[in-house]
Amino acid sequence: MRTLFSCLVLAALALLGGCRSAAHRVATSPDTPPLRFLLTFDDGPSIRSAPNPTEQVLGTLARNPVQPGIKAIFFVQTRAANGGGTPQGRQLMQRELALGHVLGFHTATPGHSNHLSMSADVLGETLKTGLADHADLGVVPRVVRPPMWAYDDRTLGAYADAGLRALLTDVTANDGKLFPPYGSPRRKQHMKYQMELLRPRVLAGELPVVQGVIPVVVTFHDPNPFTAEHLAEYLQLLLNSARQQGLRVADRPFYGQDDDVEAIALARTVNAEDPVQHIPGFWQSLLRLKP
Ligand SMILES: [Zn+2]
Repeated sequence: MRTLFSCLVLAALALLGGCRSAAHRVATSPDTPPLRFLLTFDDGPSIRSAPNPTEQVLGTLARNPVQPGIKAIFFVQTRAANGGGTPQGRQLMQRELALGHVLGFHTATPGHSNHLSMSADVLGETLKTGLADHADLGVVPRVVRPPMWAYDDRTLGAYADAGLRALLTDVTANDGKLFPPYGSPRRKQHMKYQMELLRPRVLAGELPVVQGVIPVVVTFHDPNPFTAEHLAEYLQLLLNSARQQGLRVADRPFYGQDDDVEAIALARTVNAEDPVQHIPGFWQSLLRLKP
């Protein structure tokens, strides 16, 4: 019995020692260019009553203690029955543009439809509809975020025919579950995990350097009231989590009004010849063992 107990104690100590040394190994990497976060927001705009989440997000991007005047990309749903397809939704998209943000294509259907499951004709039609919606707002979108991250050669080809390139993500808040409860009590552990996944990619030089920094694409969902309420905290969390992984962050950690945010995004879009990437959505993430 004593032998078994000793073994358990030794195993526990070894495990702790392993964890400590693993944490200790995370050193800063001065040779790697610093990161700059490119914020993207999916599924909006929201027409929830006050406080309206999309309005809250716009307010925090403009004014927050981390970096005022952040400019982001909003991948909007121009025909959403509870958002972009309503007069209030259209007003919010116009406001996003007026504030200097970029609009990207997400869906042009009443719901959150999967492009991968559409026939060529239906996909072509929905892209045409969405482009017309964006044109009504006075813009021509150049980036698309595939709903549910689902894409293949065929949908990339249809996007290209419509003048669009697909932007995936490097870091996701996994806040795309748009019904209660909205809270994310494990957001710190989750962001730590996201940065643990990002770190080897940065150190291996997998991410392109643009204008001296590495643009890191981050995805949130502006219709999520918890995200909207806690966005300033999330901004700080991104910085803290990256630094904890020894990743250098640029003095100006987010893109702002002096940057061509759309051009930066285009430098990070999917290349048709690369293998298809699978990014877990909220439900797939729940099935993962790690947070
Ligand atoms: Zn979406």
